[in-house]
Amino acid sequence: MADDIRLYLFEGGTVHLPEKNHILGGGENFITTPITWSVLVHPRGNVIIDGGNAPEVAVDARRHWGRILDISRVVMTPDQAVLPGLERIGVDPESIRWVVQSHLHNDHTGAVAVIDRLPNAQVLATRTEFTWAQAPEGFVAMGYCPADYVKDGIDWFLLEDGDDGFDLFGDGVLTCWFTPGHTPGHMSLLVRMPSERAYLLTVDAANTIDHLEERLIPGFNLMPKEAGRSLKRLRYLAWREQATVIPGHDPDLWPTLKQAPEFYD
Ligand SMILES: [Zn+2]
Repeated sequence: MADDIRLYLFEGGTVHLPEKNHILGGGENFITTPITWSVLVHPRGNVIIDGGNAPEVAVDARRHWGRILDISRVVMTPDQAVLPGLERIGVDPESIRWVVQSHLHNDHTGAVAVIDRLPNAQVLATRTEFTWAQAPEGFVAMGYCPADYVKDGIDWFLLEDGDDGFDLFGDGVLTCWFTPGHTPGHMSLLVRMPSERAYLLTVDAANTIDHLEERLIPGFNLMPKEAGRSLKRLRYLAWREQATVIPGHDPDLWPTLKQAPEFYD
């Protein structure tokens, strides 16, 4: 059907980390946060947004991710990877036309990690994020897993500085909003349905609702000034679109959201 557009949310596992790494001023106690990814079913081609973890993480996370696991723990089962997720909702990997990357942190590159199984997909990211992620510097480098995305056979489609607000299908259903701060080239995604309901995937620019409302600051913030501007912009977008906000890693909100095979439309 021409207007059969659906948004599916998936849990790609959980990260267990000291509260202080999740929330500025937090304690040493460990908290559990969900890793989330989504699929947008669209008549002109299906879209994976991010993709959670690479399937290797379910097998041997330390081998795949390295030293970030000195300060955190990841729990993932094989069925939480992208391909089993697609199968669960009856979406053929060959129908995936786009992989949209909010940013390239290791818990978001699970689709590009299996790009050889998504033969018709182009990978959309900002050029800023793409360039930064080729050789990230300092301790933040451990948040990236170049094995997932620095390889041949990826048909990148990179957004330039002037492409803010990029409308993927030209129909207003999926638009990309630059929200730097968490990483240099982070973007958030707005999904507007034919029903006029809207969903704002803030991803890690607001990893929880408390973060969006600035009741707390995340433990990790690469560029604080930009991050603050991005939050303001996200609050405006959510208000303008009357959107349901879906943050990247909110342990309290996540269980209240519909998860695949249920969907939003
Ligand atoms: Zn991130």
